[in-house]
Amino acid sequence: MIPVTKPYLPNREKLNRYIDGIYERAWLTNNGELVQKLTKRLEAYLGVENLLLVANGTLALQIAYRALGISSRDEPTEAITTPFTFVATASSLKWEGVTPVFADIDPNTWCLNPANIEPAITPNTRAIVPVHVFGNACDVEAIDAIAQKNSLKVIYDASHAFGVNYKGESLLKHGDAATLSFHATKLFHTGEGGAIIFKCEEDLERAKKMINFGIIGPETIEALGINAKMNEFQAAIGLCALDEMAENMRARAAVWHRYEQALGQTLQLQAKPKGLEYNYAYFPVVFESEEQAVRVAATLKENGVLARRYFYPSLESVACLGAETDQPVSKDIASRILCLPIFDQLSQHDQQNIINLIEAGLKV
Ligand SMILES: *Cc1c(COP(=O)(O)O)cnc(C)c1O
Repeated sequence: MIPVTKPYLPNREKLNRYIDGIYERAWLTNNGELVQKLTKRLEAYLGVENLLLVANGTLALQIAYRALGISSRDEPTEAITTPFTFVATASSLKWEGVTPVFADIDPNTWCLNPANIEPAITPNTRAIVPVHVFGNACDVEAIDAIAQKNSLKVIYDASHAFGVNYKGESLLKHGDAATLSFHATKLFHTGEGGAIIFKCEEDLERAKKMINFGIIGPETIEALGINAKMNEFQAAIGLCALDEMAENMRARAAVWHRYEQALGQTLQLQAKPKGLEYNYAYFPVVFESEEQAVRVAATLKENGVLARRYFYPSLESVACLGAETDQPVSKDIASRILCLPIFDQLSQHDQQNIINLIEAGLKV
């Protein structure tokens, strides 16, 4: 089977050396040497400040909401978000007692459409939680302006946007916070893991306490907290993967461009704004109809290729999120989209086979 993505496996000898160090120090977690090192290296690599490593990308969102004072309020609280994303964007809000209010996406970029944000604002709205979906940049200028005007916080779920630059700067610099997921299936990963990039240092400092039970000294508990710490083994994988990031990205870019060349004329691709330097994390395509998308996915599967219907279903239709509204653009794109296999080890031969199968499927 050719999967939609394959976890990147960094050099084993190098990983062993990091693990030797962990054994020598006998320090496995709680802001260890490798977590500190990875924090510094990621800030330098991404060109950001105030980065906090956490145990996973979902906790990154939850801690960001808490640190910015959006969740755990004594009053009804809403956040405006996109229905076209992985479920964790919305479920993390709901889990934190914040009602996710969906606003529809742009039909070309598939990110939250700024025109739909203001109509969704109520007296209970405290935040906007847009997603740089598949690593594409949201309309950050428009969203940041709406947030300013209405005194709302912005938390970008940037789980897909590792290493993406926009207008010459890290996309992660936008918003009061941006969160990353370092899950094994993501472009850069630590097995499980995540990070938050805060705009303000005070928010970072508050979050640092939150991820360690609110403990600030051996005998002092300052505030309510939780356990969201990254451990040393996770950081070791990250340090290895970061060394090989350029190579990994080069291989994926080659795969991405071959797909674009072969399918870009016949299928709808994600429109990217000017000034975007993409990370080649995903190759989503939108078919003419749901029937065509489902049929091509079935043909690929019969031939040992797993393309995912991703993101499907559109989240307004997920009952447990409790936000059943009409989101026609998201519903439409979600019904017709497939993400094609893309990872550094995908051979040209296998990729050509995938392209041939899709082209044959389109002619039926
Ligand atoms: C992967 C992902 C998450 C969740 O990250 P985990 O590290 O798996 O908890 C959240 N949002 C989006 C958009 C994602 O793709």
